[in-house]
Amino acid sequence: MDDVRVIGGGPTGCLAAMEAAKRNLNVTIFEEHGSIGSRLKCSGLISKKGLDMLGVDYKKSILNEFRGTRIYSPSLNEMNVIAKDIKAFAIDRVRFDKTCADDAEEQGAKIFLKKRARRTDLKSNLIIGADGALSQVAAWFGFPKINEFAFCYQADFQNAAIEDKNLVSIFLSNMLFPGFFGWAIPLNESEARVGLGVFRDVRHGYDRSVKHYFDIFTKKHPVVSKILKKSKSKNRLSAIIPLSTRDKTASGNVLLVGDAAGQVKATTGGGIVFGGNCAKLAGSLAPRIIEKEDSSEYERSWKKRFGDDLMLHKKLRELYNSLTDRQIDSYFTIAKKFGMEKFLAEHGDMDSPMAILDSAKSKFPLQAFRIRTFASIIPLG
Ligand SMILES: Cc1cc2nc3c(=O)[nH]c(=O)nc-3n(C[C@H](O)[C@H](O)[C@H](O)COP(=O)(O)OP(=O)(O)OC[C@H]3O[C@@H](n4cnc5c(N)ncnc54)[C@H](O)[C@@H]3O)c2cc1C
Repeated sequence: MDDVRVIGGGPTGCLAAMEAAKRNLNVTIFEEHGSIGSRLKCSGLISKKGLDMLGVDYKKSILNEFRGTRIYSPSLNEMNVIAKDIKAFAIDRVRFDKTCADDAEEQGAKIFLKKRARRTDLKSNLIIGADGALSQVAAWFGFPKINEFAFCYQADFQNAAIEDKNLVSIFLSNMLFPGFFGWAIPLNESEARVGLGVFRDVRHGYDRSVKHYFDIFTKKHPVVSKILKKSKSKNRLSAIIPLSTRDKTASGNVLLVGDAAGQVKATTGGGIVFGGNCAKLAGSLAPRIIEKEDSSEYERSWKKRFGDDLMLHKKLRELYNSLTDRQIDSYFTIAKKFGMEKFLAEHGDMDSPMAILDSAKSKFPLQAFRIRTFASIIPLG
């Protein structure tokens, strides 16, 4: 019997496997597809700081680099948050995921491709569910459900009229992107990855498909339709992102990591940095968990290190979602007046809203809490 069986060969599964194998455990990964990184669903925008922290050699995966963001309010007021240095990258997720898989294999983990796990396969001292947003491992073992998701639609557009290839564009509006936002990420001088998400609580019904919002965004939005006027799309995808963590992520000899656990920033939907770090923690704790037959330390540890930031991302998402477009516009105007562009360029942190809030407290001591929080919700701020 294996010491550790990881279900899912995405980045979090491979990082968990790598850490466990490094500690001389027998580790196998089951991946349902025929190759690592096939049928990927991601924009690939990740902070430099977050990537450096993960410790994966990502240099060969870089498609483009970014110094900042242009954020558009609902009435198309612009905020330009431009740092002196490179803050984020668009990465090739297939290449990145393969690097994670290579690292796991180098440490001795065995990867079984075209191996879709069934319940009967879950025999090992420790099981790590890294099987994504619709985790079957979580369902099989009765983990609490995730009900809140961003339903997303995205495509890559060739021949796009990109003004500055080192700036990501973010579009805010609770009418056009209810509960989430729109994005245009240049991949090079002439190709852009354009998409959007809408918030959905799956316990409630909804009447419009996410494609409906995407068509309006790409064909009618005054800024985006101009960028895409002469473009052709490819790599169309629709996918979901979990927007809350599960109430429980460890039970018996089963751990959940990454999207399966909901370890995702609810503000932006980014899951690689937090999911990857929690997965590494799971793998590094594996020998102790197996020895003590107690998985609760994993949950305590990741919550201690990342729980506050993830919770704040969630609170900020709830706060933002409660605003009308008019309110977003007026916060936007006030934030700009108080020098938010410069502040975010200097203190912005894509991953840690706690860090932004701390800096904002000293910079804007008299301003309303809401304006400070608005500063920390802005993606890539
Ligand atoms: C449209 C979109 C844009 C995004 N953009 C970003 C972004 O810019 N930056 C960012 O940080 N994050 C982004 N994300 C989120 C990011 O893609 C996820 O957080 C990340 O992929 C999670 O990694 P994971 O390893 O947990 O899960 P996944 O990458 O989903 O991997 C799960 C793996 O498990 C396998 N699997 C599932 N079930 C089984 C089974 N029964 N047996 C065997 N194998 C199985 C799957 O084939 C898959 O390979 C985006 C997500 C979407 C949908």
